[in-house]
Amino acid sequence: MSGRSLWLDEALVADAGGAAPALAGDVKADVCIVGGGYVGLWTALELRERDPGIDVVVVEADVCGGGASGRNGGFVLSWWAKFKTLRALYGDEEALRVAEASADAVTEIGAFCEREGIDAHFRPDGWLWTATSDAQRGAWKATLAALDAVGASPFEELSPEEAARRGGSSMHVAGVLEPTAATVQPALLVRGLRRVALERGVRIFERTRMTRLEPWGVRVEAGRVAAERVVLATNAWAAAVRELRRSLVVIASDMVATEPFGERLARDGWGDGVAISDSRLLVNYFRSTLDGRVAFGRGGGTLAFSGRVGSAFDGESPRADDVAAEWRRLYPQFADVPIAASWTGPIDRSVTSLPFFGRLRAHPHVAYGVGWSGNGVGPSLLGGRILASLTLGADDEWSRCGLARGPVGRFPPEPARFLGGHVVRAAVARKEQADDEGARADRVTRALAGLAPAGLVPVDD
Ligand SMILES: Cc1cc2nc3c(=O)[nH]c(=O)nc-3n(C[C@H](O)[C@H](O)[C@H](O)COP(=O)(O)OP(=O)(O)OC[C@H]3O[C@@H](n4cnc5c(N)ncnc54)[C@H](O)[C@@H]3O)c2cc1C
Repeated sequence: MSGRSLWLDEALVADAGGAAPALAGDVKADVCIVGGGYVGLWTALELRERDPGIDVVVVEADVCGGGASGRNGGFVLSWWAKFKTLRALYGDEEALRVAEASADAVTEIGAFCEREGIDAHFRPDGWLWTATSDAQRGAWKATLAALDAVGASPFEELSPEEAARRGGSSMHVAGVLEPTAATVQPALLVRGLRRVALERGVRIFERTRMTRLEPWGVRVEAGRVAAERVVLATNAWAAAVRELRRSLVVIASDMVATEPFGERLARDGWGDGVAISDSRLLVNYFRSTLDGRVAFGRGGGTLAFSGRVGSAFDGESPRADDVAAEWRRLYPQFADVPIAASWTGPIDRSVTSLPFFGRLRAHPHVAYGVGWSGNGVGPSLLGGRILASLTLGADDEWSRCGLARGPVGRFPPEPARFLGGHVVRAAVARKEQADDEGARADRVTRALAGLAPAGLVPVDD
């Protein structure tokens, strides 16, 4: 085992170009981007698009895609499911503008892959948001009501039969479909972005870890990048930055992938690229792959103390057996299909479950974009636009965007956050277990579970 995700292993084999060099010594650039995931690379491309003369350097501690961008579920989702929160924070008009832009981003990613010859297995077959217990039924109602209030109807309501048919299991007892969503092989997308960024003249240094932000740029392990502007695109690792620490909780998400069994999948009507998730807070999310596997993930794993992303967030999933058991519970007809691989990775959960952008108070030349909360594959394209506008000092719809006003809310300080996080997560697990069994959790458990921040799907009040 390489210790990487199945996706990144596949993508690195396909990627004949090899690693970019590590930085040893000093270089100068107009902009230094820290982090070579989707956010860093979309930002680099956007900067070069807007100003072809700009000199952009990306420093990446691992290889591009070594973080969450090479390990995620490959759901390319819009922010329609977050509309209620967007509306509460930013009002009808801005919420609609941002949500529509996030839906357009899905289509734009497909078009970008087509244009640039990136075969990231982009399949625009929609997102199925389902209930797999009575308690989950109608989890989408408040979101649909908020959308209805502004005349938007991006979701199709399905009959129970249709939800079960599209989901490939009678465990799906209700559901709605958001047709604009897609799935990708996530690591092929991030490695494709890297290739295009190199072709556009972006200089990328892999295996180059930033050790310190400086007034003149960025210090890395074996050198320096002098740059007037810096972009911090380090996802969960940004929780190490003092100013951002209280605005992020780092929690793992875990995935397993089966051996290929495509003929059986297609026979059972689940051969397309639809992305599926249930309505738990410790969300189950799953999709088939082009080579006939199922990749099945679960949120709510390892919690980081004080935002420190240690080795527990890399390699095989410590919860692989639990995740596989959940897959077999929802798809008992495939219980005999062997699991081929598992992996884990960090999620940068914000208070609102939306990302936030801004400039560091201690380092005003540094723009950041973090808090993706498990929904960054599609929206990171918009993140690149916002970060490019902040970096170039533009006064436009992206620099003025509601999301670009810094963090909204703070989590409690440590150690209360870590200890409280464990208590709340255990309560959510107990509540959702009771829901699955058709029982009702006790009052204390329900009250504690209610303190959890929203996940992939929103928490209704
Ligand atoms: C298991 C899992 C499943 C997920 N599923 C989905 C999904 O299906 N759909 C979805 O939309 N989202 C999903 N997400 C979230 C999504 O992957 C992220 O929101 C997205 O990849 C964020 O992109 P990024 O560029 O900010 O982060 P990353 O890809 O993590 O990039 C940050 C990079 O910064 C680098 N870095 C960190 N510190 C330093 C340093 N000091 N110096 C230099 N480089 C540094 C890291 O090595 C990393 O490569 C999932 C995440 C995980 C972990």
